[in-house]
Amino acid sequence: MTKRYNTSIITAVLLNWYNEEGRDLPWRETTDPYRIWISEIILQQTRVAQGKDYYFRLIERFPNVESLAIAEENEILKLWQGLGYYTRARNMHTAAKQIMNNFNGIFPATHSDILSLKGIGEYTAAAIASIAFNEPYAVVDGNVLRVIARLFGIALSIHSSEGKKAIKILAQSLLDIKNPGRYNQAVMDFGALICTPAQPQCMRCVLQDYCIAFAENRVNKLPVNNRKITLKNRYFHYFHIQYNGSTFLHKRDESDIWKNLFEFPLIETAESLDFTELEKTEAFRRLFGGVSFLSVDQYISVKHQLTHQSIHTRFYRIIIPDDIPYNPPVGIFTIKDELLTDYPVSRLMHKYIETI
Ligand code: SF4
Repeated sequence: MTKRYNTSIITAVLLNWYNEEGRDLPWRETTDPYRIWISEIILQQTRVAQGKDYYFRLIERFPNVESLAIAEENEILKLWQGLGYYTRARNMHTAAKQIMNNFNGIFPATHSDILSLKGIGEYTAAAIASIAFNEPYAVVDGNVLRVIARLFGIALSIHSSEGKKAIKILAQSLLDIKNPGRYNQAVMDFGALICTPAQPQCMRCVLQDYCIAFAENRVNKLPVNNRKITLKNRYFHYFHIQYNGSTFLHKRDESDIWKNLFEFPLIETAESLDFTELEKTEAFRRLFGGVSFLSVDQYISVKHQLTHQSIHTRFYRIIIPDDIPYNPPVGIFTIKDELLTDYPVSRLMHKYIETI
């Protein structure tokens, strides 16, 4: 029989489970808010296994807020390369400067001050405030939404405001206010290791007796997620131009996740075009100005999936004869081939560069 809504017992069982089976993660050995912040930003859209190396590299190069604040953005982006969602790195840089300017270089110690930093939302503020400063704020991320929706049999969509509100109240009611950081880490680990999105480990779950979804055979139906994502298709054509021992790059200035990263000259089209069709576009004429090519090779063609868009990318390697004049459009600059790996680039560009 399910013992419903016994929040204090659920909390105690979760903490016991965490003592026995919680993950041993490097950022759990510290209460330094700076390190906890770095780890939380990395883990926002990255798996733990991939994030660890980046955490160590970032902490080693930027051991404190000041070193991060005074760093060149290019260096931060280069260290971040491969993690994707580069907005996180740019926001972290801005937040480090905010801490230097608004908080005398000392990491803010209250939930509301932490929340005022660029790139920090409710979840991250609750995580840092609870783990580093023992503030009683329950974290609510995807793991927590799922665990609570199942435990309490919440049939509301986790993307509706009613659903989020109901889960937030329950999350807060489960919080161990004497050990908020420990409780938050326990529930996040439980969602990541036991109450997983697919094939949760119900048969070895210590909360099985308290779980409404399990008792009512609704585990596979919860959480309710009826958000429809409209996917936009985008078509990128990158040109790795080789000319006189050099290649060409430009710094992306669009306000998107790749802002301030470097990339080859790019033509984006609204539909999929092959090279012959591409040659007929105005953008192609502007880029090459009618020069003749020694050779054109199409290299990898990759599909990159983001939350709301699918990026279909083709890379072309184009060799322009050394003895003819070629001047690329404004904003595109030349670098020696061997310096290509010095520049921070997107994961897409990185994949291509690894193949050459
Ligand atoms: Fe999650 Fe299954 Fe445990 Fe319920 S019994 S909390 S669904 S793992």
